[in-house]
Amino acid sequence: MTSPTLPDIRIPADLLPRDGRFGSGPSKVPAGAVGALQAAGPTLLGTSHRQPGVKSLVGRVRSGLAELWGLPDGYEVVLGNGGTTTFWDVATFCLIERRSQHLCFGEFSSKFAQVAAAAPHLEEPRRVESPAGTHPWAQADPDVDLYALTQNETSTGVMMPLRRPEGTGGAGGEDGALVAADATSGAGALRFDPGEVDAYYFAPQKCFASDGGLWIAVLSPAALGRAARMRAAGRWVPASLDLSIAVEQSRLDQTYNTPAVATLVLFVHQLEWMLEGGGMDFAAGRSERSAGVLYGWAESTAYTSPFVAKPDERSTVVGTIDFDRAVDAATVAKILRANGIVDTESYRKLGRNQLRIAMFPAVDPEDVEALTRCIDHVVGRL
Ligand SMILES: *Cc1c(COP(=O)(O)O)cnc(C)c1O
Repeated sequence: MTSPTLPDIRIPADLLPRDGRFGSGPSKVPAGAVGALQAAGPTLLGTSHRQPGVKSLVGRVRSGLAELWGLPDGYEVVLGNGGTTTFWDVATFCLIERRSQHLCFGEFSSKFAQVAAAAPHLEEPRRVESPAGTHPWAQADPDVDLYALTQNETSTGVMMPLRRPEGTGGAGGEDGALVAADATSGAGALRFDPGEVDAYYFAPQKCFASDGGLWIAVLSPAALGRAARMRAAGRWVPASLDLSIAVEQSRLDQTYNTPAVATLVLFVHQLEWMLEGGGMDFAAGRSERSAGVLYGWAESTAYTSPFVAKPDERSTVVGTIDFDRAVDAATVAKILRANGIVDTESYRKLGRNQLRIAMFPAVDPEDVEALTRCIDHVVGRL
C-alpha cells in the first residue's frame, strides 16, 4: 500500500542490491535453495515422513548441526513442529521444574517469561530486566531451576554471549539449574560454547534461510535428564508438547507428527552450504562483515547512529539504526519497499525512528553495502 503523499523516488538500478530482502524473519531464502526444493520435488515432496527419504533429511539436520557446533558427547538435536513459540510451551511443561529466571530485554525475551508466568503448575518467574538496546546478565539464584537467556533479541538488535551464571551447575550437573537459550535469530551466525547451555533452541526461518513452523533444540545430558524426570514425576503434558516424545522420535530421525517437508529441504540446503563453506567461521564471518559495513556506515553518516550503544552488544545478524529526527525512517522504508527493497521497517512495538536490517548469513555483505548507498540516495532526495 503506497500512500498518496509518498515521494516518488526511483533508485537507479546500478545502486540496487542484487537481492532486496532484508527482513528479520521470515528472511531471505536464497535462489539456490529454491532450486534445491524444485529438484527435491519428485523424490521427497509428497512422500512419507516415516520412510528413508524424509528421514534422511531429518538425519542430515541432526548430524549437520552436531558438526557445525562441534557438539560434545551426549548432546542431542531434537526437533518438533510449531516453531520457537511452541518450544516455550514445551520448556514450560518439560524443562522448568518449579521456577525460572528470565532475562527480559525486548519483545521475544519477555514473551517466554509471560508463558512461564501463566503456567499454573509453576511459581512466579523471576525477571531480570534492562532497557531496550542493552542486555542484563543472569543472576545466580538458588530458588531458580532454569535460566532463560536470549542470544539475539531480534526486536532490538542486541546480542549477548551465552554463559552459565556463576555458581550454578555445569553441563553434566545432575540436578543443577539448566540454562536455556532462545537462539532463534542467532543460531547459525553467532558463535557459542555448547558447554554453556543445556537447551539451545531456535526455528529455521532466520539464519537457516528456511520457512517457519519447526522448532529445533540442542539438549545437554542435563536437559535430557530433566525432561525424563519431569515425565517420571507424573506432570501432565500434552503429547504434542512432550519433550520426551520428541526426543524418542528424533532419535529415529522423525517428528511426532507430520513436518513440513519443504521446510526441511530448505533448512538442509542452507546448513550444508554453511558446512561446505567452512562452518561457523564462514557463516558467522559473513554476518560479521555485513555488520561492519552497516555500523560503520551508520557511525560515519550524519543522520544515522547505531541504536545499541555498546559496540560488542550490537547484533551482527539484526542491525538497528536510529535516524535523526529530521528524517522519517518509516518513509525511507516505504520508499525502499517501492523500489523492491523490503522489510527494513523497525520492530513495530519498539516505536523508534529507526530501520532494522537483517544480516543473516544468506544476505550478501555486498548487498548490505548497496543498501546503505540506496538509503543515502533516498535521504538525499527527501
Ligand atoms: C522470530 C523469533 C521468535 C519467534 O519464532 P517463531 O518460530 O515464529 O515462534 C522467538 N524468539 C526470537 C528471538 C525470534 O527472533
